[in-house]
Amino acid sequence: MFLIYKIQHLQKLSNMRKYLCNQCARELGQLPTINTEQSFTGSGIVGDYLFDKYVRHTQFPTGDGFVSIYRDTSYDTYKEYAIISAASGSIEIGDDGKKAMLWWAKEDIGDAIHNQIPVAYNNMVKLVLYENKNKIHHFPTSSLSAHEFKCLKCGGDIVPAE
Ligand SMILES: [Zn+2]
Repeated sequence: MFLIYKIQHLQKLSNMRKYLCNQCARELGQLPTINTEQSFTGSGIVGDYLFDKYVRHTQFPTGDGFVSIYRDTSYDTYKEYAIISAASGSIEIGDDGKKAMLWWAKEDIGDAIHNQIPVAYNNMVKLVLYENKNKIHHFPTSSLSAHEFKCLKCGGDIVPAE
């Protein structure tokens, strides 16, 4: 099962994603400004996009498929991860121009679950859709492939080698 997870990561490496380290993103004025006063779980009602994402990434899944979940499921921590990722993370720019923030937590903060079985540890936060206050959310991911990522501007590591 872990092998499948690693292969998925290697496939991701072949994508033409680009990265900006936190310092370069800051110098270029590219760091996101998110409203820290907003509710990161929206209305808190099932069916609300923000709330559904929060539940998806904090509750152990009841169905099959691939999902990553946080170990600390409190709202305060979920909110903190959004704020710290926006301020201290690196920017990932996808093929399609979509941007995300990657923040290395330096410790395991979540788990990857495949068909209700934990298959890997997660030590990064990926903050997505951060320019849309109605869709901004995040989830834990692994730094496994992120150690290969280099900053487009300075060539530095996005995540230092461990
Ligand atoms: Zn840089």
